Parts: sequence; C-alpha cells; structure tokens
Amino acid sequence: MKYCPRCATPLAARDLGARARLACPAAGCGFVHWDNPLPVVAAIIEYLDGTDGDGRILLARNAAWTMEFYAVITGFLERDESPEEAVAREVKEETNLDTEAVALIGLYPFPRKNELIIAYHVRARGEIALNAELAAYKLVPPAELVPWDGGTGLALRDWMKGRGLPV
Ligand SMILES: [Zn+2]
Repeated sequence: MKYCPRCATPLAARDLGARARLACPAAGCGFVHWDNPLPVVAAIIEYLDGTDGDGRILLARNAAWTMEFYAVITGFLERDESPEEAVAREVKEETNLDTEAVALIGLYPFPRKNELIIAYHVRARGEIALNAELAAYKLVPPAELVPWDGGTGLALRDWMKGRGLPV
C-alpha cells in the first residue's frame, strides 16, 4: 500500500510503539496501515470414498501455479461465517465434496502472504469435481504424504505426527 485509502496522500513510515508503520502524514487524517495478517482456512481433506478404514488425502494443484505442486485447499472467510463453516464451504466449492467432520489442527503464521492459516482436518465424501481455481488433484495415502516447508505444510506435518506417521 503506497497511498492513503482515505485521502490519497502518499503514506510515510512512522514509529508507532513496537514497530514502524506506514501512516498518512496529512493533517487530520490519522490513517495507519497496520498490515495485520488476514485469516485463511486450510483443509487437509480426508476423502472417504466408501472403502473401509482411513481415507486418502486430497491434494490439488492451483490453476494459477506454473509449477507442478500439489497442496491443500485454502480460502478466505466470509464476513458472517465461522472458520468451520468457511472450510466446509471452500471444500464444497473447490472439490464438490460434502464435509462430514471438521477438526482443528492448529494456527500457522504465513508471513510471505501476511496470512494466519487456520488449518483443519476435514473428512469428506462425494463425487470429486474441481472448480476453475484448480487444475488437477491426486489422492495420497497418509503414509505417503511429504509435508512441504512453511505455511500449510506445517499443518500437514503436525497432522501426520498426530497420527503417528513418520515426517
Ligand atoms: Zn490520509
């Protein structure tokens, strides 16, 4: 953010307590760009495809990504939603799966995107149909998952540890 969203004055660094912030220098404006992280929900989807026992984990490749990388489903909360409702809605929108159970894994700072990840384990059923945001998916047995560094990868690692899987 370079300009004040209230009065369009160029923002300038100002020391406000613990750290320097970008703030509006215009007299009487007072706008401060606090730059606080935005919460996002993430779903480690366990796909219950009718077979007995534990399901496989659905990882998907974002259509906007150039690299061959599969990750968990993420999304933003709507104003009137709980995080649990948001994660179930995102799973439905992006994969067409119906959520049966949602369990919190943990909260993970993601400084690169200035987000706070609220990560859930979601058990879901149905016919997989990706929306336009996703290009491809794969179903991975939990024991074969390889968590990536940072962000949602930390949640995946913690979930695996909780199941006694080697990471
Ligand atoms: Zn201003």
